Amino acid sequence: MDFSLTEEQTMFRDLFRDFAQKEVAKVAQHADEREEPPVALLKKAAAQGFLAATVPEDLGGAALDLLSYSLLLEELAKECLSTAVTLAVHNSLVNATLVKYGSAEQQEKWLPILAENLGGFAATEPDAGSDAARVTTRATRQGESYLLSGVKTWVSNAGQAKVLLVLAQTAGGPSIFIIDPAAPGVKIGLREPTTGLRGVAINTVYFDLVEVADADRVGAEGEGLIIAQAANTHLQLALAAAALGLAEGASALGRSFAIERKQFGVSIATKQGLGNYFADCEIEQEALRHLIEYAAWLAGEGKAYAPAALKAKLFGAKIARTAANLMLQVHGGYGFSDEYAISRLYRDAKALDFLGGTPQLGRVVIAQQVFAGAGLTIKP
Ligand SMILES: Cc1cc2nc3c(=O)[nH]c(=O)nc-3n(C[C@H](O)[C@H](O)[C@H](O)COP(=O)(O)OP(=O)(O)OC[C@H]3O[C@@H](n4cnc5c(N)ncnc54)[C@H](O)[C@@H]3O)c2cc1C
Repeated sequence: MDFSLTEEQTMFRDLFRDFAQKEVAKVAQHADEREEPPVALLKKAAAQGFLAATVPEDLGGAALDLLSYSLLLEELAKECLSTAVTLAVHNSLVNATLVKYGSAEQQEKWLPILAENLGGFAATEPDAGSDAARVTTRATRQGESYLLSGVKTWVSNAGQAKVLLVLAQTAGGPSIFIIDPAAPGVKIGLREPTTGLRGVAINTVYFDLVEVADADRVGAEGEGLIIAQAANTHLQLALAAAALGLAEGASALGRSFAIERKQFGVSIATKQGLGNYFADCEIEQEALRHLIEYAAWLAGEGKAYAPAALKAKLFGAKIARTAANLMLQVHGGYGFSDEYAISRLYRDAKALDFLGGTPQLGRVVIAQQVFAGAGLTIKP
């Protein structure tokens, strides 16, 4: 068993780290304070190929394997979870869906646009969150096209997106449609006033009789939930990596602070009560890294990786939140001030409990696997 990165993966990681430290770190606080996506940064990310990170080369992408993609998100999230989430949603929910399920015409038309501009995925509605099968947005057939109406909430990247994938009911069941946010009948609402992830353009989107061509339906009618699930699995692995980055970023902030801060005449880092925090975080981060590597390895081997990605994401969300909490504690009262970056990480970490699905619903899926074959039906 070889746990080392390949030469190429090491080179990518160094490149991602360099970009994160030089470009991302300096905009993180500003994006959080202003509740603004760092637009100029995203242009630089596009120039690096990060907006087509896992798109195959023949479709114009950087063709990163999933482990390299995880390294990208980990490095970005060390500096700014908003930036990592923006790119994770774009690459995992939108690009990966079009690569896996899009027609040749859809790939040719939309992937070049997505290499330069953001995409978003609109599933959640005011009355349909965890239970996505019950969305009420409807696409009604009109000859060769559909008319789509409904409201989608919590759409990450919506405020900046040039492409939206939208889950809507059709006569054949839930289906996915590609929609240009500039199309007549689409209205992007104001940015949600969020607790954290303030650098992500998260908006409600309103659709009023939006005409969508038949050619812009991804996959068959009724395939929407299968497609959304595959996209979510890709996202869960990405979010696990982002969670690792956030946890590492939090530990680094805590470590610097603990070394500098003196109480009782010595550096607080020498106190076992705090040393235990660092030790626990270290163990959890190493465990998470292996969960991510395992899920990425399964994916690379063409094996089913959804259970592994889900476990990595749930564990990642939990340990990122723990690390942010403990490292804020290390900062004492200073950590509770927006002047210190740890307070942003603490607010951002909580988003990982919603994006890609909640821990409660994730555990239902794992419990279903645990009891599979025992003749028990476990429903959400
Ligand atoms: C920062 C952020 C970004 C997001 N980005 C997107 C996006 O880009 N696109 C998109 O479509 N959506 C997005 N979402 C929405 C996200 O997917 C949903 O918040 C999530 O699926 C949960 O849905 P809900 O918020 O409606 O909660 P609900 O489903 O109403 O659940 C409320 C609570 O009840 C629990 N619960 C529900 N059912 C059960 C059950 N059967 N058993 C036990 N507990 C249960 C949930 O776990 C949760 O704690 C985003 C959300 C956030 C916060």
